[in-house]
Amino acid sequence: MLETALKDTDPKRLQMLSQPSHLDIQKLWEIQKKQAVLKRDMPIKHRLMLLKKLENATLSYEERLQNAVFKDFGRAQTETRMLEIYPSLSEVRYAIKKLPKWSAKHAVGKTLITFSAKAWTVAEPKGVTLIISPWNYPVFLTLGPLVSALAAGNTAILKTSELTPHTSEVLQELIYNTFNPEDVAVVQGHAETAQALLELPFDHIFFTGSTQVGSIIMQKAAQHLSSVTLELGGKSPTIVDQTANIEDAAKKIVWGKFVNAGQTCIAPDFLMVHESVTEKLEIALVKELDKRYPDPAPHHDLAKIVSDKHYLRLKNAIQEAIDLGAKPITPIHTNDATRSIAPTLLKNVPLDTLLMREEIFGPVLPILTYKSITDLVKFLTSRRFGKPLALYLFSESQVHQEQILARVSAGGVCINDCLIHLAHKKLPFGGVNQSGIGKSKGEYGFWEFSNRKSVIRQWSGFSPFSLFFSPYTDKVKVRLEWFFKSKI
Ligand code: NAD
Repeated sequence: MLETALKDTDPKRLQMLSQPSHLDIQKLWEIQKKQAVLKRDMPIKHRLMLLKKLENATLSYEERLQNAVFKDFGRAQTETRMLEIYPSLSEVRYAIKKLPKWSAKHAVGKTLITFSAKAWTVAEPKGVTLIISPWNYPVFLTLGPLVSALAAGNTAILKTSELTPHTSEVLQELIYNTFNPEDVAVVQGHAETAQALLELPFDHIFFTGSTQVGSIIMQKAAQHLSSVTLELGGKSPTIVDQTANIEDAAKKIVWGKFVNAGQTCIAPDFLMVHESVTEKLEIALVKELDKRYPDPAPHHDLAKIVSDKHYLRLKNAIQEAIDLGAKPITPIHTNDATRSIAPTLLKNVPLDTLLMREEIFGPVLPILTYKSITDLVKFLTSRRFGKPLALYLFSESQVHQEQILARVSAGGVCINDCLIHLAHKKLPFGGVNQSGIGKSKGEYGFWEFSNRKSVIRQWSGFSPFSLFFSPYTDKVKVRLEWFFKSKI
């Protein structure tokens, strides 16, 4: 019965699945499994051809993608062009340029006991992969991992976010018109669809989303021992010390925090400011905000909050903080009809509020103060926050920079700027423990989707180990003794 139903399924239709059945999902996985086996024998040229197709498709769908994101949560088209289209193109172009090097054999040196053998490592595709993406950068966080999956020679099923339906629709069409379903397919749907996909034995799962869901993904992956990359969230602290260039810090913090209305995984979540410069920084931040977002919400350059649920969560969190003693430094402007929240700065925010307990993921910035580096480090490394995805430090002091770098763990650190560590093609991107497992982008993304296979080739008829074969005579023992003493 199941087999007949599977035979009747048109493979091309499977690429356009919206809320698919379990059977559809199973069929899609099966056709990709067959293709994954065939792809192992295909030359690098084939992967380059798929990447080139992705580059061209991204260019030709650029405007539609920008408009779709605008429809989904009102983000300015220019911001989407800068933060999603350009990074997607940059990622695919970099992979096209570097793939021959990444996929080549890497010879490794000789060792005494294996002196006669030749050894190398080589990347092999993992096989059938699943990419689950979030809503906040729906284009780049879908196409970016897809570049790595294709560069590494895998097939991929993409599960896009239900919170950005217009963008998911355009992404699905882009993939449908560019690839065969056995290579790449988009599956739209809610958490249940992701859960159904997670029942299958994928060779790798690349998930971007919240820490809570990341933990579910890892449990599901454990059923099949599928490898995982988890790109998660959390609270990213931003330190401004007494040596910082305050005007420069204010400009860069306002950019990093309020781009995409604070709905960025590596947005500065809260500020830790040395008490001697807190007032000066507050004045500089307000001045900068007046310049960048002069009108109350809705401002045309400020994205809207993605859903009613998130909008109410943020409104309640602001109100709760104020009720418990936080002091607004900027006027509170919200607009229920457009789900807009104007950039909001708050000081004296109690630590037991939602704003300080959970990732904010919106245009609200609490400003906390500290007295000494020792207090600061103690606070940031307390169990309260986990290890952050990003850590920002504005400081002109080399000593402070080194102390913070050494003492506070984080997925990535950016000194005297915001967000730019993600833009650097040659840096890995990812979190640590609660903020993520594994690294993405460029060569790091390629390896995430590859098995680094060790190969060693011995001459036939010879092995240095024959010196130690049984029977374990005195001669063997003497040779072994020599090896022990040689400390090689
Ligand atoms: P989310 O975890 O709610 O959803 C992400 C994806 O998981 C969606 O496709 C969703 O349908 C699916 N999903 C939701 N519940 C699921 C479940 N129970 N089982 C299986 N799949 C499920 O995250 P979001 O709200 O879309 O995105 C915001 C979060 O993502 C923030 O925490 C942010 O920090 C994080 N994020 C991290 C990065 C990064 O690179 N580290 C980038 C962007 C966003």
